[in-house]
Amino acid sequence: MKTYDLLIAGRGAAAYAAGLYAGRYRLDTVLVGDSFGGETAIGGVIENYPGQPEIDGFDLMMKFREQVEKLEVPAIDANLSHLRREGDAFTAELTDGQKVRARSVILAIGRERRKLNLPHEVEWMGKGVSYCSTCDAPLYRGKDAAAVVGGGSAAVEGAILIAKYARTVYLIYRREKFTRPEPVLIQILEQTPNVKVLYTTEVKELIGSEASGLTHIRISKPFGGQDVLKVDGLFVEAGADPRVEVAKELGMELNGQTGEVHVDRLMCTNVRGVYAAGDLTDSSGPLKQTVTAAAQGAIAALSAYQYVSEHKAGHGAKEAKQPAHA
Ligand SMILES: Cc1cc2nc3c(=O)[nH]c(=O)nc-3n(C[C@H](O)[C@H](O)[C@H](O)COP(=O)(O)OP(=O)(O)OC[C@H]3O[C@@H](n4cnc5c(N)ncnc54)[C@H](O)[C@@H]3O)c2cc1C
Repeated sequence: MKTYDLLIAGRGAAAYAAGLYAGRYRLDTVLVGDSFGGETAIGGVIENYPGQPEIDGFDLMMKFREQVEKLEVPAIDANLSHLRREGDAFTAELTDGQKVRARSVILAIGRERRKLNLPHEVEWMGKGVSYCSTCDAPLYRGKDAAAVVGGGSAAVEGAILIAKYARTVYLIYRREKFTRPEPVLIQILEQTPNVKVLYTTEVKELIGSEASGLTHIRISKPFGGQDVLKVDGLFVEAGADPRVEVAKELGMELNGQTGEVHVDRLMCTNVRGVYAAGDLTDSSGPLKQTVTAAAQGAIAALSAYQYVSEHKAGHGAKEAKQPAHA
């Protein structure tokens, strides 16, 4: 079996940025992942990627991809299901049954957003349904109403932020009071007059059409005498779970608080030869964005390059260290 210099798991911003840098370092690299573009490609319009004042996320990811394809870095349309060290390299098992061997690995497989699991939710993502207030709040400038679902800091911060743009924000929480956000956040929330908090309420139905996307939501308990609210957008801020199954299998250290893969400032994990980048990691704290994921992918590629160079120079797997950095 051929041994690549580098296997990059993922097809999102972190993975493609890593692929770009790895290609330019002339590492023999392969990308694996069955879903092109990651969250950026499905998130709708992006207004905060430097150099691109306004671009559809899918188009932005096509640009990432074209730049990597120019360097002839191949991609395999299958996911990574298992990864183990075998001798001086790693063997990856893919969901289509293939095995791929590589001297080093970058994990850039992101995280899974918790969903409401309502019909049309995924279909209307980017058409009124969002999972990222930081990213999409400005798109609601001058709009009448948006709703936020959730009871943690992200939901409360999201509602406060969106209230700077939309005229009315409904913050919908299924419990009787907030217990998780910091008291100072609750105080700011209470001082934000255009946020209406709907306690002990759940979203029951998303209403709209294929052409318009989301236009209304049905809630479990009437508010102002109405159980259907007209909204321009719904933000689901119910948290996200980093995809750490493979990392755990390999004994990678996770962040004790967030459960994300723990990396140092050069994206090194505790496993020699394995790096991680993007939303999967604890690198950029709560700021999980396309630009931060891309930057981490680039840094991870440099670390992999240094490791592989040292490895090929004859140090071998046991002696080769993570690059001197942290
Ligand atoms: C609705 C929405 C709107 C957003 N808007 C913005 C915005 O305006 N601006 C901004 O900067 N950011 C925005 N974001 C955030 C941004 O999209 C993410 O921070 C960014 O995509 C993270 O990149 P990533 O490569 O780390 O992960 P992802 O983009 O999540 O990519 C992970 C990749 O890994 C793949 N994968 C998963 N499991 C496996 C496996 N086992 N093997 C191989 N591959 C696997 C996935 O299919 C995917 O291709 C938005 C996010 C959402 C959800």
